[in-house]
Amino acid sequence: MKILVPVKRVVDYNVKIRVKADQTGVELANVKMSLNPFDEIAIEEAVRLKESGAASEVVVVSIGPDKAQEQLRTAMAIGADRGILVQTDAPIDLGGVEPLAVAKTLKALVEKESPDIVILGKQSIDDDSNQTGQMLAALLGWAQGTFASKVEINGDTINVTREVDGGLETLALKKPCIISTDLRLNEPRYAKLPDIMKAKKKELEVIEPSALGVDYAPRLEVLKVVEPPVRQGGIKVASVDELVEKLKNEAKVI
Ligand code: AMP
Repeated sequence: MKILVPVKRVVDYNVKIRVKADQTGVELANVKMSLNPFDEIAIEEAVRLKESGAASEVVVVSIGPDKAQEQLRTAMAIGADRGILVQTDAPIDLGGVEPLAVAKTLKALVEKESPDIVILGKQSIDDDSNQTGQMLAALLGWAQGTFASKVEINGDTINVTREVDGGLETLALKKPCIISTDLRLNEPRYAKLPDIMKAKKKELEVIEPSALGVDYAPRLEVLKVVEPPVRQGGIKVASVDELVEKLKNEAKVI
């Protein structure tokens, strides 16, 4: 069984985001970039399936700038077998390569690579779209299990447990299928130094979007990106009565 894992290069989750002065997006110059955290979970799950003998190959793919090779190498240090970079200089947040264009690129790669499962993150932490996996499933006509908190292989069936309001839902998917990862699916390992060294020698193919016949023309226009409003300082109230009065008449929450 072959697994394809799409991974995105995003601003590291520890970085305090700064909005560009012209409000067209967020500042990316001299900012630490990393693997999208949900994609790390996707790689970990795929590698565990390989270690358990259920999968035979894990291929990681990223659509992004040349530097996204760093994230592909990290994914290979975690245990992916090889990587593919679909290289583009277009920005990869909203206003650049949109989820639909990513999904079309992935569809073309699925046709080339014939994986049995595609495991994606449930969302990119930069644009928070939560669209790519669902669009890919629609374009391919494949089954999908979104927000997986547990994945179990059962012959040709894959059981995906999802956290839903009020409990857990388990779906049985027929292969080939799409799975998107939720936070609780697993805890990704840290890549060890020998694995980082080994990953440098793994195969990394670089291709142009035009080789896949995908059009990256934007369908969306970002009107503006703004900082969240600055939090107002708190106040002290003298009594419970005053608190209740303020909650009722000022905050209007009770
Ligand atoms: P999104 O729909 O943008 O929230 O992204 C959902 C998932 O799609 C991510 O967690 C990745 O697995 C995948 N994805 C999104 N953008 C890219 C990209 N540029 N390259 C590779 N995978 C991507």
